[in-house]
Amino acid sequence: MPTKSNFKCDRCCGKCCRVLVQVDKEDISRISKLGYEYSYFLEGDIMDEKNLVLRMDEKGCIFLKKDKKGRYSCSIYKNRPKTCRKYPFFNKKPIKSCYPEILFPIENFSYKAWISKQNKQ
Ligand code: SF4
Ligand code: SF4
Repeated sequence: MPTKSNFKCDRCCGKCCRVLVQVDKEDISRISKLGYEYSYFLEGDIMDEKNLVLRMDEKGCIFLKKDKKGRYSCSIYKNRPKTCRKYPFFNKKPIKSCYPEILFPIENFSYKAWISKQNKQ
């Protein structure tokens, strides 16, 4: 099973950038300093209206890019939200897969709920 020390993303699928990514004040401040309007990159979390998430379009996160070779990348990589930096290892345990549909229970397709559950284990 992949662990934090041996895991390597081959950037072939971009699946992890097609699920809700909640952002906090620090994330929002860091990204807005790059020149993006709030309305460009933020929207309400449909799972919890109190929270904000990165805006999605039909391909996934608004910052997800695909090059001519079909490899995915993050256009704000150095300034990406903290949750994106942690993915897919939110604690020290090995994981079965980095694919979000395996990593997250379907009813909790929100990072915050999943992280909270992991922290209680
Ligand atoms: S789901 Fe896994 S393999 Fe696909 S882009 Fe994300 S980390 Fe990489
Ligand atoms: S900010 Fe970057 S790493 Fe995070 S979901 Fe969007 S494209 Fe993926």
